[in-house]
Amino acid sequence: SAGLMAGKRGLIMGLANDKSIAWGIAQACAEQGATLAFSYQGEQLKKRVEPLAASIGATEMIECDVTDESSLDALFAHLEKIWGAVDFVVHAIGFSDKSELRGRYVETSRQNFLMSMDVSVYSFTAVCQRACRMMPPGGSLLTLTYYGAEKVMPHYNVMGLCKAALEASVKYIAEDLGKDGIRVNAISAGPIKTLAASGIGDFRYIMKWNELNSPLRRNVTQEEVGKAALFLLSDLGSGTTGENLHVDAGYHVVGMKAVDAPDI
Ligand code: NAD
Repeated sequence: SAGLMAGKRGLIMGLANDKSIAWGIAQACAEQGATLAFSYQGEQLKKRVEPLAASIGATEMIECDVTDESSLDALFAHLEKIWGAVDFVVHAIGFSDKSELRGRYVETSRQNFLMSMDVSVYSFTAVCQRACRMMPPGGSLLTLTYYGAEKVMPHYNVMGLCKAALEASVKYIAEDLGKDGIRVNAISAGPIKTLAASGIGDFRYIMKWNELNSPLRRNVTQEEVGKAALFLLSDLGSGTTGENLHVDAGYHVVGMKAVDAPDI
């Protein structure tokens, strides 16, 4: 088929439901002719994600818990078997115990700190490590991050540290894989109501604040993240690596509350 992604085969990790950022990206890629495989966490998600994937013509569904090395090995062994190569991977995965996504960061436990870093940070390195072995020049790896890595945001707490480490790993991996013609980037998305986001304290307030104070005076959608991902995953982004592309209605450039924003 024609399209920006024609002839490209990609793995989408982190689809939970039709609100997932992974879904916005998958739809954009499929529309542009990509062939997709999906990985999902645990059997109970399978029933929900299988019909979604099928609706855009994807049949390859592979279970993968990113904290499990053998599960990751099995995922990439399967891709090797069916495709032999992979052109792009989208990592849209993060997790922290929601009891620590409220109140003071300083109270974070060692156990949740390490678990959050494992799921939300190391997993991207573990994925890149395996994907790059079967990725031809022109390959593209993408992860999702948030402004809470750069500035203190209420309740984001340990996830802010995770995203800061994730953003740093994007730069290091970009350097490692650049010589092979593989690009590595992040999208820093503005707040979007998803399953993961609902674990963050006062999330509705955060969305309202962004809507009232971002330059575009609104929030962004999964579709808009999908369009930006298309740039980074396709040949349009061939000159861009190690980048953190903000898709946040411009919120990250703002220094103070908008003069026209009402008190909320
Ligand atoms: P989501 O809940 O739809 O997706 C999170 C996914 O992570 C789920 O599919 C879940 O199954 C998966 N996951 C968690 N632990 C896993 C594990 N051990 N193994 C495999 N998969 C696992 O929510 P989302 O908002 O679409 O999140 C996708 C990414 O976008 C996350 O990295 C998140 O931090 C990031 N992000 C979200 C927002 C937002 O406001 N929603 C903003 C910026 C960045």
